[in-house]
Amino acid sequence: MATPTKAKRRRFAVYNLPEFALPGTIFCKLIFFAPMIVDEFSLRHPDNLPRRRYSRILPLESSDPQCIQVERLFLKGWRHLNKPKPTIRAIYKILSSDQSLEVYARYKSQVQTINLLSKFNKGANEQLCFHGTKRLCLLGENNSKVFPCESSECSLCCIIQGSFDVAKCGNAHSFRRFGAGIYTTSCSSIQQHSASNSALNTNLRVLLVSRVVVGKPHNRRHNATHMNQPPTGHHSVCDVVGLPGVDLNYEETVVYRNDAIRPAYLVVYGPSTPPKPVKRIHSKAHTLLSSLFKTPVAV
Ligand SMILES: [Zn+2]
Repeated sequence: MATPTKAKRRRFAVYNLPEFALPGTIFCKLIFFAPMIVDEFSLRHPDNLPRRRYSRILPLESSDPQCIQVERLFLKGWRHLNKPKPTIRAIYKILSSDQSLEVYARYKSQVQTINLLSKFNKGANEQLCFHGTKRLCLLGENNSKVFPCESSECSLCCIIQGSFDVAKCGNAHSFRRFGAGIYTTSCSSIQQHSASNSALNTNLRVLLVSRVVVGKPHNRRHNATHMNQPPTGHHSVCDVVGLPGVDLNYEETVVYRNDAIRPAYLVVYGPSTPPKPVKRIHSKAHTLLSSLFKTPVAV
């Protein structure tokens, strides 16, 4: 092997000096490791800049395509005809950190690749699904109530700030038909019971709409309370409804990983207000004419 010349040795030494390496490292980090904006739900996305500082939800205009999509989903999902269809009061977009969205995007991409290789043509099969949960504050009640509370008991604010945690999901309900997972559904009316509201002085309810990587679902006909993951080759467990011998009477989709789901929208709804009866207005002129002629005057 040739012996390095004095000049080469000097260059090698210079390049290995920490003083030289340090600025280069910072430069590389700035170029290659600057956190990128993952998607439109990012706190840093330009569309979300009108949000109030420290808020995690952004009210959507009724003409916003996302608002229209969620509203349609909610009304279409109200399948219990015995429950009066409520009125939507507001729809908010839920904003997350890029770190949180990055984990979700990575898992979604993995599922997409695996499914396309296995000829499952729906890829990641991302869907918007409902999830009812406990609210202990007035978040979303109006456009000024956009700051999550600090209570660890308020499941709504916990999910909005830190997404879902499979270890905590289902604690409110002792019976989990598909075991320890995160439960969602396309049926907005069935979740009414779990969209509870412990806050005082309000009759409004809330419902989360989440992005879910359903992937290749395992369709089950019967309860399986022992499950803590989907069968091999699947990414979620869905029920099959409407068939003879099926234990389920409404649809549910369950995922078993925290990175398979992110909250996306918050629907605030209340009882539908019946149309007010038309009041007959009797002006002074009517009263005078009526008293003069002793006959009722048509209004
Ligand atoms: Zn709260």
